[in-house]
Amino acid sequence: MGFGRTHDIGEVSSEMIGLKVVLGGWIEDLRKLGKMTFLTMRDSTGITQVIVKGEQNDKIEGLNRQSVLRIKGTVQETKAKDFDFEVGAEEIEVLAKAIHPLPIDPLGRLESNIDNRLNSRALDMRNQKTASIFKLRHHVLSSIRKTLIEKKFIEINTPKIIGSASEGGANLFSLDYFGKTAYLAQSPQLYKEQMTIGLERVFEIASFYRAEKSHTGRHLSEFTSVDIEAAFMDYTDVMGVLESLIMEVFKFTSTNCKDEQKSIGNEIKVPSSPFEQLTYGKVLDELNAADQKLEFGDDLLDSHLRIVGEKHPGFYFITDWPLKLKPFYIREKDDDASLSRSFDLQYGYLELSSGGTRLHDSKLLKSRLKEQGLDPSQFVDHLRAFDWGMPPHAGWGLGLDRLMTTLVGVDNIREVVLYPRDPDRLTP
Ligand code: ATP
Ligand code: MN
Repeated sequence: MGFGRTHDIGEVSSEMIGLKVVLGGWIEDLRKLGKMTFLTMRDSTGITQVIVKGEQNDKIEGLNRQSVLRIKGTVQETKAKDFDFEVGAEEIEVLAKAIHPLPIDPLGRLESNIDNRLNSRALDMRNQKTASIFKLRHHVLSSIRKTLIEKKFIEINTPKIIGSASEGGANLFSLDYFGKTAYLAQSPQLYKEQMTIGLERVFEIASFYRAEKSHTGRHLSEFTSVDIEAAFMDYTDVMGVLESLIMEVFKFTSTNCKDEQKSIGNEIKVPSSPFEQLTYGKVLDELNAADQKLEFGDDLLDSHLRIVGEKHPGFYFITDWPLKLKPFYIREKDDDASLSRSFDLQYGYLELSSGGTRLHDSKLLKSRLKEQGLDPSQFVDHLRAFDWGMPPHAGWGLGLDRLMTTLVGVDNIREVVLYPRDPDRLTP
């Protein structure tokens, strides 16, 4: 361990009383009592009380909270109620000084609003609640990877700088690429579909970009998407993959992230499975029963989904959307070509994922592109792959940040993203 640390604070226990340790961490709190100081020192794994006396006490004279120390000392018994042991300091070295006052109080005693916290995000990580959100996010990511790998999906990385507007649409960021116009990818859609040719089952976890001027708790200009695409699967098959993935994430984190749930103050409850499945038609009936006056083909707006979400507060699927509401690559249903083989996964009003069966016939793809007012010549590189033996395939994209809000129990996506990007925020 660097800097001569012998232990992480979380590794020290009352069984080590009498042993010498070297710890590194930051001062969370300090109390002076004459020639003695009671410190609480934290590192990313835990917290301990440190007793500082005599000459060592002079070294920390005037030191502010959040300053970083190395302490060599002996683990000893304590009278403090909150601790099982304490450390009697024998040697102290001040490694870094923190200023006073700090831009936010990382202990959260003084509530800081989200903007101030985002402006000082690194310091916000010394708040145990915030740190726990990102530790939880780490466990969610590792559980997603583990589950998809067990289901024989291969992790891929597709380009984020792309030469043509992949799915059409106005919400693309463009940039100068050595004198040409390039775009930031909105999704890995076309690449992941192409990869089913040889890899069959692929997934990607990456940042994608949408130039949408949205000011909501669920939209960012840069978000993390979990995407899968699978050959020889239909939309109902990939809905199964998605549902079992969500179940695994909830089971894993509810069992293995007890400390995080405690600091966040939200208990993760494993949802009941199977998730309810409503067709778009059924949702329309429910909305019209609530006086919404929707017709077949109308998109479900946020105001509509709020109503549906009241009745269905947990996870549920909305399936079989009108084909015209879906992107060009979505396949129609055999028994009714006005409907599509598609779904959204909802959590109450919140859309978490969209997916479906894809067209795998290049002629049909071309005519669907034209139908949607897109120019097939812009898609030649993509369409070529469909003449090379493209298997039938299906997939979905899941918003990781939105999923995190359901686990943490917050409405604002900015709480679960380190450095969120929105129309008003490009820094830090
Ligand atoms: P919405 O209608 O909520 O704007 P969308 O239908 O445009 O979402 P999709 O293209 O279906 O989004 O993307 C797949 C998933 O990616 C969404 O279900 C959502 O979870 C996530 N997602 C899409 N756009 C954003 C964004 N701007 N910020 C955060 N997550 C997003
Ligand atoms: Mn969608």
